[in-house]
Amino acid sequence: APGLYIVATPIGNLGDLSPRASEILLNADIVAVEDSRVTAGLFRHLGARRPMTPYHDHNAESVRPGLVARMAQEAVALVSDAGTPLISDPGYKLVRDARAAGHTVTTIPGPCAGIAALTLAGLPTDRFLFMGFLPAKQQAKGEAIAEVATVRATLVFYESGPRLSATLSLLANGLGDREAAVAREITKKFEECVTGSLTELAARYADAPPKGEIVIVVAPPGDAAPASEEDADAALAEALTRLP
Ligand code: SAM
Repeated sequence: APGLYIVATPIGNLGDLSPRASEILLNADIVAVEDSRVTAGLFRHLGARRPMTPYHDHNAESVRPGLVARMAQEAVALVSDAGTPLISDPGYKLVRDARAAGHTVTTIPGPCAGIAALTLAGLPTDRFLFMGFLPAKQQAKGEAIAEVATVRATLVFYESGPRLSATLSLLANGLGDREAAVAREITKKFEECVTGSLTELAARYADAPPKGEIVIVVAPPGDAAPASEEDADAALAEALTRLP
């Protein structure tokens, strides 16, 4: 059916492409892609191809109206190089304009590095703030960190290997030496999740910047750890005994 389909793709392991994602991709009239070489790899895995058109930060403004117009008659799928489109990737304006034009918008959810890292870290998940990539420039980076220092939530950052140690140090300075996790190469052969305090982790990676793709997960400030389910159950049971 015509409309816009937001299709999540694997963040490493091709086995994570869902059957529904495959079906939508194989039936799309056109697939809007970040990098056609990357998505060509996915189509190789599927053993078929569909027409692709680039949609990325540098051409989005100019190609968006044409893509939206096509949605009246055609099934337009949006993918990014890896994971969920729109999450530290292009797409939200395409969704906005598709809606404004009255087209059907459908999502095919799936892998997302930030969510996958949260499930590995062993830190509170009841409240989290997705921070995406911090600014590259030191001052802006420090400011972005200072801005969230009092937020009572687990923080999730995307980062690259060469910058990892410096970013961990800046986080320790700006947030205090909190517990954290570095999740790397999730769903790939060398997947790992290393936990420790921010200063411990900064030291660990100082001399040997790790390869691959990285998510940093940082615990909420001090006493913000939520009551456990057991505590809540006990409190409820105790409260019930006091009811008339
Ligand atoms: N849209 C993607 C998603 O849903 O996660 C994120 C795209 S963003 C441009 C790419 C960043 O995601 C990488 O720099 C890295 O921080 C993180 N990332 C992607 N794949 C990953 C993986 N397999 N393991 C760890 N981090 C990953």
